Amino acid sequence: MASIFSKIISGEIPAYKVAETDQFLAFLDINPNAPGHTLCIPKVEVDKIFDLDEDLYLKLMAFSRKVAIALEKAVPCKRVGMTVIGLEVPHVHVHLIPLRSMDDAKFTHKTLLESEDFDRIAKDIAGFI
Ligand code: AMP
Repeated sequence: MASIFSKIISGEIPAYKVAETDQFLAFLDINPNAPGHTLCIPKVEVDKIFDLDEDLYLKLMAFSRKVAIALEKAVPCKRVGMTVIGLEVPHVHVHLIPLRSMDDAKFTHKTLLESEDFDRIAKDIAGFI
């Protein structure tokens, strides 16, 4: 069965998209640690990040870096943190989290946002890419 992220890629379910190439997609995490929490994924569905072939892995890092630089310009924060977990969704994703404090790095610390907030933040980040 296709992962929830493959369904976002195919357009079957919606997402607040930030950036897209033929190989990668960046969109806002629906349950963010902090406003601007973004996920970067390869379009190919692979479960674990270190199972990606080296070329795709390095390209994912380059794509994530580009998104992180835009994110830091668009969302007030001290820096952008990067985490890979994958215990919930078995489709490689890089978490980019605008950090204002250590709490923002904790996945037990969540921020409630309205759909207008998600829309605005996604557009703000996309504006710097
Ligand atoms: P993990 O697999 O533990 O790295 O976490 C998966 C992340 O995906 C969590 O932060 C979820 O909030 C996020 N997530 C799950 N479903 C969606 C979705 N439909 N759109 C955006 N983010 C999602």
